[in-house]
Amino acid sequence: MNILVINCGSSSLKYQLIDMNNEKVLAKGLVERIGIDGSQIKHETIGKEEVKIQEPMKDHKRALELVLASVTDKDYGAVASLDEIQAVGHRVVHGGESFADSVIIDDEVMKAINDNVEVAPLHNPPNIMGIEACSELMKDVPQVAVFDTAFHQTMPEKNYIYALPYEYYQKYKIRRYGFHGTSHKYVTEKAAEMLNKPADQVNLITCHLGNGSSISAIVNGKSYDTTMGFTPLEGLAMGTRTGDLDPAIIPFIMDKENMTPDQMNTLLNKKSGVLGISGVSSDFRDLEEAAGKEHRAQLALDIFESRVRKYIGAYYATMDHVDGIIFTAGVGENSISMRASIIEGLKNIGLKVDAEKNDVRGKAQEISAEDSSCPIFVIPTNEELMIAKETLELTK
Ligand code: AMP
Repeated sequence: MNILVINCGSSSLKYQLIDMNNEKVLAKGLVERIGIDGSQIKHETIGKEEVKIQEPMKDHKRALELVLASVTDKDYGAVASLDEIQAVGHRVVHGGESFADSVIIDDEVMKAINDNVEVAPLHNPPNIMGIEACSELMKDVPQVAVFDTAFHQTMPEKNYIYALPYEYYQKYKIRRYGFHGTSHKYVTEKAAEMLNKPADQVNLITCHLGNGSSISAIVNGKSYDTTMGFTPLEGLAMGTRTGDLDPAIIPFIMDKENMTPDQMNTLLNKKSGVLGISGVSSDFRDLEEAAGKEHRAQLALDIFESRVRKYIGAYYATMDHVDGIIFTAGVGENSISMRASIIEGLKNIGLKVDAEKNDVRGKAQEISAEDSSCPIFVIPTNEELMIAKETLELTK
């Protein structure tokens, strides 16, 4: 069974066609600049050369038409016709409180995704455009929505209600939702396999450290707490997002700089984090390179590292027991020095990496020392495969 996985951003569309008989990627690609000048698709069928298609794409429907044409192209495609695609899995950012699991998309589901635009005005509209385009172009193919928030719906009330007047939760659904759920779930299942335990019996601290970063406390295989909140802004310092901040700072800056809420949102989401601190880059490779020369680049890394440590420490101290600590995503999978220094600062709770085992990038491997109080793993995330698995489960 071949499943097409679609992840739509406001002007982008990422896709993978996966053969679920062997979980192999058949083709993948990225469409950029949808609706703006210079639209292009970078398409690659595995085993063939990458092709670039430059053509105006006024909307997501046109982009998807060209993606489907690429996937079925007789020279650089992966399948002979669309009949060879049995289902489509969509990444949908916000399922709000409506979805604790992935679902087959029907009218009622579309209405609920639309209702959640209120809490995810930046994220859900492009996801909706992607689903609508697929419904038009692949009429009889079942489509599944996989939500970033769904995995975290198991959090207890005490971990998702903010200390605001309760009426704001009732009126506007302001609460912690958590994000990166597909990734936290994927590495939880992988870690359970590596630990040789049933997935519903593992307690983990999963650290998704990338451009966007979040940490989750997993109890009995389910999300118990997580660092992202009402939006993906809360928690760790990220590439360009602030993470935790005294909320009083926001009206203070708005007043001083005469800023609108939109401008403030851009500042908090796009200009802050390690980019804002360092003034160098949001990319951790650039920061690691600049750290020896530029104080603020080193400071950005120190702040990132210390927040990761703080949350690992907090979750570790409040969980009954922890079976494993997992590092995943761009930084978690690849930055040997970042992993080493995060764990070095947690020796008080007995955590220890083995320098030799930690010398690894992008490969699932245990990296803890024999005498570490708890096993530590690197597990590459694979959100597309997780979306395809959930889609298969619901449509097979
Ligand atoms: P992601 O959002 O998961 O794609 O992660 C992107 C982040 O991972 C970027 O900030 C990259 O700089 C970082 N990253 C990727 N490779 C490395 C590496 N070898 N060392 C440090 N950071 C890396």
